[in-house]
Amino acid sequence: MKKIYYLIFLLLTSLRSYCWGFYMHEKINYHAVFLLPPQMMILFKPNIGFLSEHAVDPDKRRYMIASEGAHHFIDIDHYGQYPFPEVPRDYKSAILKFSADSLQAYGIVPWWIQIMVGRLTKAFREKDKQAILKIAADLGHYIADAHVPLHVCSNHNGQLTHQEGIHAFWESRVPEIFAETEWDFFIGKAMYIPNLSSFIWDRILESAVAADTVLHCEKEISVLTNPEQKYAFEERNGKIVKQYSTEYATLFESRLNHMIERRMRQSIFAVASCWYTAWVNAGQPPLDHLVHDSLFISEEKEYQRLNLEWKNGKILGRNCN
Ligand SMILES: [Zn+2]
Repeated sequence: MKKIYYLIFLLLTSLRSYCWGFYMHEKINYHAVFLLPPQMMILFKPNIGFLSEHAVDPDKRRYMIASEGAHHFIDIDHYGQYPFPEVPRDYKSAILKFSADSLQAYGIVPWWIQIMVGRLTKAFREKDKQAILKIAADLGHYIADAHVPLHVCSNHNGQLTHQEGIHAFWESRVPEIFAETEWDFFIGKAMYIPNLSSFIWDRILESAVAADTVLHCEKEISVLTNPEQKYAFEERNGKIVKQYSTEYATLFESRLNHMIERRMRQSIFAVASCWYTAWVNAGQPPLDHLVHDSLFISEEKEYQRLNLEWKNGKILGRNCN
């Protein structure tokens, strides 16, 4: 009888997934603020709520804009073998070699991050408070996504190896269980990045190597675990949802030798360092007297529309999971 209920649950429920999970994106932007120097803290700390809440806007935009999806990933293995010398690190050269449409199809996160740092630098130069906060929040999201191994791999949800659900398992389920109680987010200070392209590509290559490890480790523990021990059913927002069990998550995290915690810490450091680099490149403008210091009515309406589309919408373009 138990097995019948189990099968019914399997049919009625599914594993939900967002990039890093909404919860983790918010945490990454939140913790990044504390790595900033006091001259930046004066703006970022009072707006930490905005930066955290809007860390998930890029995922919400994927319900409105089909082209948004490509900003969150790159199927780097599409281009050959590690360290992927065929892929020009410079965006213009990559477009010339592969065409913009082809790059879009396989994801553009490493280049998009650099475009966003450029936009943030411009916003700092113009002392535009709302633009700084909006772009900084979005940028944090894309940087965090680039640190997720399965965002840098065409087998992004284990769909090619019968490991469907592994994407959300790595980036949502495990962090939700361990981040608050077990993980350490004392990270130090943001660093100036002299060569942004090389910094971002290093992170992409790390994620690419880690993707193989993630898939391999889950496969290993999966064959050792009874399916009924692998999943648990828990209530979430009034609904029963199928989840990987805490025991299985513990086994996974330990088999990965705490990789997820390390990638999250590296994400926080990279987000703060990119914010800081943009500010330095803008000439370190004082951030206490800024223009455009409250949202225009049209901007407020745009945020409301974003939330509405996300609540009602169907995702456009490739899903994260
Ligand atoms: Zn994302």
